[in-house]
Amino acid sequence: MNRRDAEKRARELRREIQHHDHLYHVLDAPEISDAQYDRLFRELREIEEVHPDLVTPDSPTQRVGGAPQTEFGAVRHSIPMLSLDNAFSVEEVREFDARVKRGLALAEDAAVDYVAEPKIDGLAIELVYEKGVFVRGSTRGDGTTGEDVTPNLRTVKTIPLRLRGDELPALLEVRGEVYFEKAKFADLNRAQEEAGKAPFANPRNAAAGSLRQLDVHVTASRPLRFFAYAIGSAEGIAFERHREMLDRFSAFGFHVNPLARDCHGIENVVVAYRNLHEKRESLPYEIDGMVIKVDRVDQQRRLGMKSRSPRWALAFKFEPIEATTVVDDILVQVGRAGVLTPVAAIEPVRVGGVEVSRATLHNQDEVTRKDVRIGDTVLVHRAGDVIPEVEKVVDPDRRGRGERFCMPEKCPVCGSGIVKIEDEVAHRCVNAACPAQVKERIRHFASKRAMDVEHLGDKTVEQLVERGFVKDVADLYALRKEQLVELELFGEKSADNLLAAIEKSKKTTLSRLLHGLGIRHVGEVTAKVLARAFPTVAAIEAASVDDLQRVREVGPELAAAIRQFFDEPLNRELVRRLEKVGLEIAPEERPAGGALEGKTFVFTGTLAMKREDAKALVESQGGHASGSVSAKTEYVVAGEDAGSKLDKAKKLGVKILTEAEFLELVKKAEASS
Ligand SMILES: [Zn+2]
Repeated sequence: MNRRDAEKRARELRREIQHHDHLYHVLDAPEISDAQYDRLFRELREIEEVHPDLVTPDSPTQRVGGAPQTEFGAVRHSIPMLSLDNAFSVEEVREFDARVKRGLALAEDAAVDYVAEPKIDGLAIELVYEKGVFVRGSTRGDGTTGEDVTPNLRTVKTIPLRLRGDELPALLEVRGEVYFEKAKFADLNRAQEEAGKAPFANPRNAAAGSLRQLDVHVTASRPLRFFAYAIGSAEGIAFERHREMLDRFSAFGFHVNPLARDCHGIENVVVAYRNLHEKRESLPYEIDGMVIKVDRVDQQRRLGMKSRSPRWALAFKFEPIEATTVVDDILVQVGRAGVLTPVAAIEPVRVGGVEVSRATLHNQDEVTRKDVRIGDTVLVHRAGDVIPEVEKVVDPDRRGRGERFCMPEKCPVCGSGIVKIEDEVAHRCVNAACPAQVKERIRHFASKRAMDVEHLGDKTVEQLVERGFVKDVADLYALRKEQLVELELFGEKSADNLLAAIEKSKKTTLSRLLHGLGIRHVGEVTAKVLARAFPTVAAIEAASVDDLQRVREVGPELAAAIRQFFDEPLNRELVRRLEKVGLEIAPEERPAGGALEGKTFVFTGTLAMKREDAKALVESQGGHASGSVSAKTEYVVAGEDAGSKLDKAKKLGVKILTEAEFLELVKKAEASS
């Protein structure tokens, strides 16, 4: 390809990839398979490798990050990023409305148009677009000067590197919130704890910690998201209403919070607040209140601002989900990777509508820092679905306090030695056969979102491990009825129920199995990503770090964790044993509509391409790859030295393809989907 053609093709590819990024990340409605996307991406990367001068700052290849930075530069905001006044009661909100009306010289009973938006608990940032291209991004900092985190923000997939559309303003500064979803936050913290690193206190800290990374690859591996909601400087574009601005942002390719409500008059704002409060727990991200903004921009201007906050907006905060209670005891729990977690047993107390009797203290460093002791009165904080944590001691000067907490020297469960690796905050029990670890691994494996083994409660797991019937998850499938009836509170019927449930769990999906294995960083969502990219556990096991990273959404941290898991001989042996128990792994559910939907392919003989890749191609179009030929087989793809399978296909009259014909077929399927 000559340079001119390369430049043209690179431009096409960029547009195409940006379009699919938008469909996938912002609209959540992908139109092509991951495999097709990867091919576009790879083609672009290859062109840019041959012609480095063709790399543009808005190229999707720039999302993956470059060399580590040494420090963050300073960025002065052209218009200060103000903070908002807070209100905690409906009265205060009505007072705000009254002030707005006085400021606008409106009658007391006039109704002002407001827009009410969820207040995301994340990190405020500013993005600068020149002629539609993302050129600079910074944190809020002190409001006047923030940190330059441009390369980090490039990795956030919901931030467009180029605005969509043809009429693009000369300058547009978009402001909004970078945030972490609750489920991803929980996954991250679990991984942090297992890696012996300090967990993040809340999703906001996780977002800030992930964005402010000198090594951009770390940021790229964290699933940060972005909501746009405000504007800084702009040239060549203006809005009459806040709502109009949100709509334009959306058209430019930003995520705008769909829960933003138009409210005519303050009483509608109050209703919107109550509705939002009810939704709070069920939202995938943390919110700590609602932001109320005057909709009309001319009114905003007339109202103006005070020293540090605008007069036309207000943060209506939810009550904090906190409560005070007394620490009865400090226990030490052992997790499935052996990490010891100190946990406060507290006098039961209601926090945000839920009764809580345990609160985590995370690790020794945290306990030392907060100096929590038995008998102390503490403030307990609960954030969303996350385990409640002890925030601080309320009465640190109380006389006659108990002893300082100190991590035990031996595992409280198995008595093995405890290690603390340098640079890690976690203490660990080194015994992989520690019953506490085994129990946790089995509980996790059997949990609803993993292998979903019904009738296997905590008490049962405990007894199975204590009696030595089960030493790892594969042992579950070797349980016999004679063993089960020996358990406390177990009759014939409950034994039969459990055996039937274990049998039933054999019919599963690859993502459930992967999730159940408890690989670090591989939560439910990641397991699905992997299961769509690889046909079997064995294929993942065989994949190099590079192979793994070729999958969209798999970063270096995750790839390394997967490799580490399979490099451990005990884990490989476990997988071999699981393969032998007769699991029936159904193909992963995928967006319907592939052109090969429902068609079964069998590969035989030596192919030029890797077998896994061939399978992935079939599956990317909704088809299915099988190991044996039957009347249900649609196609047999025969390479060199094809043997009995080819004979059988001929006998059954199954259509036989060469590798080239197969690729042609897939190409056609992709073109039609
Ligand atoms: Zn132990």
